[in-house]
Amino acid sequence: MKTMHLSCANPVLAIVLSVSTLLFSCKKEETVTKPQVTEGEIASLTSYLTNQGFKAEDILFKDGNFIVQDDILISREDLAARMKDESNSDVPQTEQWRSPYRVNKDYNNNVKIYIEPSVPAAWKTAVKGAVANWNAVNNTRLSMSIVTTKANAHTRVFMGSEDANWVARAVLPTSNGKPGVSVEINTKFNSMAADQKLFAITHEFGHTVGFLHTDQTNGIFIPGTPSVDAKSVMNSFVLPWAGFTAGDKLAIQLIYPI
Ligand SMILES: [Zn+2]
Repeated sequence: MKTMHLSCANPVLAIVLSVSTLLFSCKKEETVTKPQVTEGEIASLTSYLTNQGFKAEDILFKDGNFIVQDDILISREDLAARMKDESNSDVPQTEQWRSPYRVNKDYNNNVKIYIEPSVPAAWKTAVKGAVANWNAVNNTRLSMSIVTTKANAHTRVFMGSEDANWVARAVLPTSNGKPGVSVEINTKFNSMAADQKLFAITHEFGHTVGFLHTDQTNGIFIPGTPSVDAKSVMNSFVLPWAGFTAGDKLAIQLIYPI
């Protein structure tokens, strides 16, 4: 997810930034030995994403992952599996959206989260608060907990560092129904206000359990969710945390019923 002032308010700036991110990434990749990923495969997976409604300029391939809309990560293998699996999904208007995969019953009543020791205290507080936020939603099977050993965890929270506009980013659930494997926090935003940190991490856990951006139109629309939801935690920009909206709660209850 990204900072407020870099949301859709200035499309020209946003495009310039995403181009520069892309250039930076290409430059960086030259120094890394990449495994056997063909340009053709990247192109076909990219067009699969654009067919789903993601804009080409919002898609970046880096270190084996596709990064869409700055903060949603899907591994190349997983995207290839999706492309194979999936028949066409509908793309109607805006509102609550989900990825093709959700977290299955083996994991969704206790998504285990591990916080790397290097995560600063203020972010740790936000992670704990975010887990509490998700656990406070009624009438859903979905539940999370923080574990103290990495080996037992589904989702690892760790620090990254990039001079870019993403505050944090997360991996979607995999095709085998496991929660997204990580949430990465950008050290650049270490001094962000506590209530924004809480919003950002609550948002990222939304991605790890399969929710996409409310203010975009990609993935599978969640029928029954409202048509306007400006304060949704799954919007792609950071607000001060003020609770899940009714639409957020409904989406969670619909996707993860008891
Ligand atoms: Zn996001």
